[in-house]
Amino acid sequence: MGRVTIYDVVDMKEVHQAECEHKNTTYQPTEYHETDVGVGTITHISIHESYTCDDCDIELDIPEPDEDVFRNR
Ligand SMILES: [Zn+2]
Repeated sequence: MGRVTIYDVVDMKEVHQAECEHKNTTYQPTEYHETDVGVGTITHISIHESYTCDDCDIELDIPEPDEDVFRNR
């Protein structure tokens, strides 16, 4: 049998997410950018739609389209 060491790692981020009420959230719509990276090359960058909590960075379910967060532009 090999030597096995088990680390009882507590992920503080997960603990924080479990305790967090997710009151400060950010909705990131899908975006497509053309970015000049400085060497004459245009790079297309896409950002996936996401809905995350500002406090604990957990990724939440995407809210329904009629929620205010979608109008807040
Ligand atoms: Zn949170």
